[in-house]
Amino acid sequence: MTNETWGLVREELIKRVGRNNYVTWIEPLKFSDLKQGVARFEVPTSFFGDWVSRNFADHIRAQLNTAGAQVDRVEFAVGAARPASAAAAPVTRAPARAKPAAISARPAEAEEMPGAPLDSRFTFDSFVVGKPNELAHAAARRVAEGGPVTFNPLFLYGGVGLGKTHLMHAIAHELQTRQPHLRVLYLSAEQFMYRFVQALRERQIMDFKELFRSVDVLMVDDVQFIAGKDSTQEEFFHTFNALVDQNKQIVISADRAPGEIKDLEDRIKSRLQCGLVVDLHPTDYELRLGILQQKVELYRSQYKGLVLADGVLEFLAHRITTNVRVLEGALTRLFAFASLVGREITLELAQDCLADILRASDRKLTIEEIQRKVAEHYNIRLSDMIGPKRVRTIARPRQIAMYLAKQLTPRSLPEIGRRFGGRDHTTIMHGVRKIEELMSTDSQLADDLQLLRRLLQG
Ligand code: ADP
Ligand code: MG
Repeated sequence: MTNETWGLVREELIKRVGRNNYVTWIEPLKFSDLKQGVARFEVPTSFFGDWVSRNFADHIRAQLNTAGAQVDRVEFAVGAARPASAAAAPVTRAPARAKPAAISARPAEAEEMPGAPLDSRFTFDSFVVGKPNELAHAAARRVAEGGPVTFNPLFLYGGVGLGKTHLMHAIAHELQTRQPHLRVLYLSAEQFMYRFVQALRERQIMDFKELFRSVDVLMVDDVQFIAGKDSTQEEFFHTFNALVDQNKQIVISADRAPGEIKDLEDRIKSRLQCGLVVDLHPTDYELRLGILQQKVELYRSQYKGLVLADGVLEFLAHRITTNVRVLEGALTRLFAFASLVGREITLELAQDCLADILRASDRKLTIEEIQRKVAEHYNIRLSDMIGPKRVRTIARPRQIAMYLAKQLTPRSLPEIGRRFGGRDHTTIMHGVRKIEELMSTDSQLADDLQLLRRLLQG
């Protein structure tokens, strides 16, 4: 590969990672060489290298391969011939920035927000709205208008693959289009922690604080990640408060409601609950069909001449109920396969090609099945699962069943409560917590759980 190829690839990367990220992270990279499948780049600092490696290496590798270079791995090393902090030799481009946190010194216009890349496909236009997600969508829309802050934070939660990240990116895109001067910072909670730890190590904690306090909109994805990570939580809490005090919008996502995130400090929980908490419910048939129809429209331009038999989409929407990501994956595979073999996509083809996915989605576990298995295992009566007895020999298996119901089905705590003889959702939560606690100390229980899980999931 030549420097020229890299030049072209770089331009392509703008589309992938967005202008801001490009200027901050990609432009300063200097291509060194490509040997035996390893592409090497020079970076100004080791922090820079780490960050690029964590956040953009996959994009870079993929793009290099698309351009015809055979790259298995990309590596970043601080330039050997010169001190890390010195500006690059007088090449054409602007000198690399040593650290991105110097932002606040610059005028509001040409600022770059060192967040995670936004996926250009995740927009409001491509988000299909249905009953299960209409509230979350409406709230996201409201935030994306960028008007006065009415609820803070917006807390989106829901199971995996239901569109949380999609909505967050959509908000960021929309805000950037409507108000380009706004400083919108999107990142995952994991990246927040990573940056924090890095700042501690490099003694740049003031820069870190300044950066996070100088944004207009902060979006942190998958916040459950910082549970149990004490100093990160602490810093997050302070950042959060500082921004709320300045009336800056915060958007948070998690895989469960604030109150249900284990090992998250209570003061953070209550702060997170102060704004608007909305959940994305598991998809229903109509939503799944809508999403499939929309994806098919998109694919049509890619795979010209493909014919889709009647009933295939309905079949998929009916059978694949796990999450949208799986649904999308199924469709992609189906189209790729059909275009390879050049055949019409019939119901039979779909069944063949997606056999594994269909089988996996088939086993939709019910709470009743869980109760039955657990009762069997502990040799108690099924009726005791829903009955009022409180002796340990019955109460404990009941709690185990509650725990498994929470883990293995998409049912909410109140729904689970109803199936356990109309118990309150707090009772279920207590049961789930109890088992979570015991699991780490009681190895017999841990074994039982593993066995039950295996039995239930086949
Ligand atoms: P989460 O962050 O909740 O785990 P994602 O936002 O990553 O889920 O969504 C998983 C995939 O499903 C993405 O490709 C996303 O575009 C798609 N998706 C989810 N919900 C919808 C929707 N309502 N309309 C269109 N695509 C969706
Ligand atoms: Mg996500």
